[in-house]
Amino acid sequence: MNKNEIQLMKKGELHVHLNGLVSTDVIRSLLIRDKSELPSGFNLERDLNISLPANSLASYLKPWQALRLIPKSKNNLRVIVESAFLNLKSQNITFVEIRNSVIYLALLNNISVDEALYWVVSEVEEASERHKIKAGLILTVSRGDYAQEHLRALLGAYEKLGRPNTVVGLDLAGNEEITSPIEIGSLFLHAKDKYGLKVTIHAGETGRVENIISAVNEFGADRIGHGTAASKSVEVMNLLKDRNICIEVCPISNRLTNAVNENESHPVIDFIDHKVPFVICSDNPSIHSSTLTDDYLEFYRETNSLQHLRDMYTNQKKYSFIRGLYGN
Ligand SMILES: [Zn+2]
Repeated sequence: MNKNEIQLMKKGELHVHLNGLVSTDVIRSLLIRDKSELPSGFNLERDLNISLPANSLASYLKPWQALRLIPKSKNNLRVIVESAFLNLKSQNITFVEIRNSVIYLALLNNISVDEALYWVVSEVEEASERHKIKAGLILTVSRGDYAQEHLRALLGAYEKLGRPNTVVGLDLAGNEEITSPIEIGSLFLHAKDKYGLKVTIHAGETGRVENIISAVNEFGADRIGHGTAASKSVEVMNLLKDRNICIEVCPISNRLTNAVNENESHPVIDFIDHKVPFVICSDNPSIHSSTLTDDYLEFYRETNSLQHLRDMYTNQKKYSFIRGLYGN
């Protein structure tokens, strides 16, 4: 199967961050137009893309030093969301779950979290309609001392907006070495129970297999982002298989962050062997100067499995948080 054939396949995308989906040319032009003050030493031509494995998480995260400066208005958000949807369309993606942390948007624009969530929901809904791509929004909370406060603010805004159907899930992301307040897990469980929101947790990306166990047991994770460390433990693999918890595998991202080192094979091979459910996702394709098609190709290079590529669209529907794709 060649690149063109893979590009033409219908796809779903279950793990992609809004800012990582926008064309970096669009980001550059917005930053220049708005005369945004870049951090010292940040080179707009060089530092927005990561094309080689980073030597530390900090260097992988360098583009976010500039990404967090956009968007500075609702109009800019519209430009960003439009660019993201054009990217999805080019990859024949028919449904997408977009992640965004919304809180930074409120801070950047000096607006309430309610208003910021309204901006994102309305822009995503309009773009979804325009491009005929079904879209759900996943609200991302960063690990750390403010995780709980941010989640409460987001859930309050979600309630005030009348629980929009577009919001389909919650996500915890950020440095896995940072411990978050113990109550954060129960807040995720409470939101699942009260609102029917689904949960995905970035876990086991930096080798901490215990974060996968806690994501399942304490946060009620329905899916795991990355989860590359799962292959280190048969017990964890069994836990994911027995509970039918799907791993969002991002092959290119995992190489660029060194979640999987260049001298090891990708753990998705073990997921296949142990029948742990997984889907292929792209995480931050524009930052990686790549696309979801490239992630499919990278997966094929690692596994030689055409069958998994052929079954991928069905599996993406099956494990999506968007209702009605798979008779759910
Ligand atoms: Zn991610």
